[in-house]
Amino acid sequence: MCIFCDIVAGKIPAYKLYEDDEVLAFLDISQVTKGHTLIIPKAHCDHFLACDSEQMQAVMRVAQRLGKHIMESIGANGMHILSNIHEAAGQSVPHFHVHLIPRYDENDSCVITFNPSEKQNLEQLQKQLTL
Ligand code: 5GP
Ligand code: ZN
Repeated sequence: MCIFCDIVAGKIPAYKLYEDDEVLAFLDISQVTKGHTLIIPKAHCDHFLACDSEQMQAVMRVAQRLGKHIMESIGANGMHILSNIHEAAGQSVPHFHVHLIPRYDENDSCVITFNPSEKQNLEQLQKQLTL
């Protein structure tokens, strides 16, 4: 169905760090920083918002457990946990995955910048977006 389904099926090799019936974690081929890891549900779903909550919870449980283990094992000083949704947000593989990106210092090879946009009307946004 997709390249990550092929990894789950064993058709493409990967350096696996964790596996159970529902979840697989493996090293990202691009290694934005040392130890960059992906956690995926074995059953295909397109992205975080499209998964059922059991899939999402299984993935996030492993992300927390493996995240702690990587931090302790590799000497990182921080970590990003992120999941891109759709191309507009940088998603290139359409199978839900969580990135664990260890951070070593502010000047390592990972750059994530939050630039402020034009001033927003927060009162209006709250009305529009409250669940
Ligand atoms: P996205 O851009 O969708 O958030 O992240 C997809 C990630 O999958 C990228 O960081 C990319 O390096 C990684 N990736 C793509 N193809 C493969 C592959 O065949 N094997 C592994 N291990 N990682 C892959
Ligand atoms: Zn897939």
